[in-house]
This record gives sequence, structure tokens and C-alpha cells, in this order.
Amino acid sequence: MKDKIKIFVPGTVANVACGFDVLGFCLDDIGDGMTIKKVEEPGLRITKIRGCELPFEIDKNVAGVSAKAMYEALNPDCGFEIEIHKGIKPGSGIGSSAASAAGSVFGMNELLGRPYTKLELTAFAMKGEALASQSEHADNLAPALFGGFTLVRSVHPLDILSIPTPDDLYATIIYPQIEIKTAEARALLPEKVDLKLAIAQWANLGSLVHGLHIGDFELIRRSLKDVVVEPYRKQLIPKYDIIKAIALESGALGCSISGSGPSMFALSKGKATAEKVKSGFETIYQDSDIDSQTLVSRINTKGIKIL
Ligand code: ADP
Repeated sequence: MKDKIKIFVPGTVANVACGFDVLGFCLDDIGDGMTIKKVEEPGLRITKIRGCELPFEIDKNVAGVSAKAMYEALNPDCGFEIEIHKGIKPGSGIGSSAASAAGSVFGMNELLGRPYTKLELTAFAMKGEALASQSEHADNLAPALFGGFTLVRSVHPLDILSIPTPDDLYATIIYPQIEIKTAEARALLPEKVDLKLAIAQWANLGSLVHGLHIGDFELIRRSLKDVVVEPYRKQLIPKYDIIKAIALESGALGCSISGSGPSMFALSKGKATAEKVKSGFETIYQDSDIDSQTLVSRINTKGIKIL
């Protein structure tokens, strides 16, 4: 059996419009690299971090916390060394912490001959996610581990559904480099939801999932709406309405906040439309002092890849 594995751990989009807290999808063209080594000396060590400053202590890095949860459950007669090459900036809203939390347990599981299922790995990785966001959630972890679109039907007990991805669906991301604290984004949300809005939201989520199943892009377009969360959170992102208008005018099926922001995503049929959305996004902050990054990505239907 191998004693070293290199993996690509993709970025992910959570809170997909009407699928707030439950629906996510996996990106293909942005992610972290990780190398996991099985070593004789027992215990866990983070030996290298590239790309940004993050703690090396196991208990302070999400990759370490999730690895520790799995290590303590299995108690193997070996240790592991973890190298992290961050391609996804922490706090960008495209699943930076989820990538690290999922990557360490995925890599260790491969080196041990896959004792755990992806669902069990998600449960360990949730312990790491909780370090970053103070609560256990799986809406970024599930698409990173399973690929494609995923729906977290329940967190306790964990129940994750894989939803099919229509061919030719592309995402465009804009990442305005401002800081939004997840706690601040949470605090803006109302405690109660108006029943009429709730009905509209679950009607859209049901039809979005159906549209993904049958590959009906017009149904996906009609359903990619968020009437519950967007009205509160859009104020956190400068030029939100302009970003959304440019995406829709360029032909996108829909556009909304990725995770708790500041990134936003648009979904489009075909790469040409996704690229047109990207060109529009590139103009948005040109006359301001906000730096931004944009990218087009296929939907990654496989999740984490062994390199
Ligand atoms: P994102 O939505 O992009 O994942 P989060 O705000 O959820 O961003 O998580 C980023 C937070 O987690 C930061 O405070 C960061 O310092 C912390 N963190 C700890 N370990 C890691 C790691 N390995 N990768 C990314 N973020 C980490």
C-alpha cells in the first residue's frame, strides 16, 4: 500500500440561491493541493503550509482538527504528516476551510485502504469545519467529497444526496477582496421567515433540484432565486445589484452569493456564456479601490482528485 498521496481539493459553492444551508456544488478550476504521508512515528503533524499564513498546530488548523477526529476514532499504528498548498484564500466564500478539512481525512483514508465511506469522512471533516465557523455543517464539505451538486438533507443524522449535474453547466465566480465575517453575515438574518416567502423558497428549491435532474436549463433559470436570505445579505457586497444585473444580461441562468460571501457565483449554460459573464464581472470594480478576481469553472462532478 502507498505511504504518500497527493490530492487536488476543489473549491465549492454553498448556499446555492434558494438552497441556503443545504445545496452546494463543486468547482474544478480552483482548489488546494495537499500531500499526506503515512509515517511510523505515531501522531499527526502539519509539516508545510504554502499560499497563506495559517496555524501549524493541529488543534488550530481545520485540516488538523478533522484529521484528529478520524485518527482518534481509528487509532491506527502509524502517524501522518500533512502538507497544505492553499489555492483558495481563507474567508473568500468558496470553501477554503472545507477544502482543508475534507482533504486531510480523504488522504488519510486512501492511505489506510479506505476504512471509511465518504459520508463517514464528511462527519469527521465537520469537526474541522466547526473550528472555522463554530458550528458543524456540511454544505461545502459534501460537494468537495462527493463532487457535483449535493443536498444536505439533515446534519444530525448526516444525510447527503448527490444531485446530477447537467452537461454544459458552468460557473463564473467573482471574488471581491473584502472581508465579511461569517458571524456578521449570520447576524443579519431574521429569526423568523414569512410563510409566503418560505413557500416561494421551497417551491424554487424543489424545482431547481428537478431541473438539475432532467437537465432543463429554463427551469433552472426560473428556480435560481433566493427570496429569503439575499434581501438581507446583499448589502454586504458592494455593487451587488450591478453584479447580478451584468450576469443576467450576459445570459447567466442565475447569480447569487457564494457561501456567506464576499464571492458571488453565476451559473450558465455553455462555456461561452460563462466567459461573457466573466468579462462583465471584470469591469465591476475597475473604478473602485476594491481588488477582485474572476474565474470560470466547469462543475466538477468527481470532487477531490488523486494526482
Ligand atoms: P471559507 O468560507 O472561504 O471557507 P471560512 O470563513 O469558513 O472561509 O474559513 C476560514 C477561517 O478558517 C479563517 O479564520 C482561517 O484562519 C481558518 N482556518 C483554519 N485552518 C484553515 C485551513 N487549513 N484552511 C482555511 N482556513 C483555515
